[in-house]
Amino acid sequence: MKGLKNGMSSVSRRNITQRLVVFASHLPSSSSSSSDSTSMASEKQAALATAPSDADAPTIFDKIINKEIPSNVVYEDDKVFAFRDINPQAPTHILIIPKVKDGLTGLSKAEKRHFEILGRLLYTAKLIAKQEGLDDGFRVVINDGPKGCQSVYHIHVHLLGGRQMNWPPG
Ligand code: AMP
Repeated sequence: MKGLKNGMSSVSRRNITQRLVVFASHLPSSSSSSSDSTSMASEKQAALATAPSDADAPTIFDKIINKEIPSNVVYEDDKVFAFRDINPQAPTHILIIPKVKDGLTGLSKAEKRHFEILGRLLYTAKLIAKQEGLDDGFRVVINDGPKGCQSVYHIHVHLLGGRQMNWPPG
């Protein structure tokens, strides 16, 4: 019968293959390259070397928003700015930040007044994921504090996609 081989349709085979890929991605990885682990180590070192800063202390992201230093901008509106990460951890790696920090150095500093901007950051992640063609899925990450591997104290959402993500994260 057309589409059947060994009693299994090509659609079933594809479904099983996709499930195996997702299942494998949840297993501990033994195949990460040395450049991956070097990059992860340097990210961690950067995070541990960066002390959580004062609420109003400027960061490199202020210079990016003000276009004092260049960035690869993918989205901008009156409240939100998004640009490609300089050290991408996936084929698509975009940072989404509020234009006005308003004390939000990190998620742990969120107050009720930040409800709207926090929602906008996530909603913008969804818009950009669509814009980037990440139709099969993507990941959003907010690192917080030294143990969360945060290195820039201006809240930002990482949007990652374009490859199969693994679980658990490092
Ligand atoms: P986090 O470690 O969660 O605080 O993320 C900070 C991110 O900012 C890292 O992924 C860096 O690669 C990224 N980053 C730092 N400087 C720049 C820059 N000038 N342009 C783009 N991304 C940057």
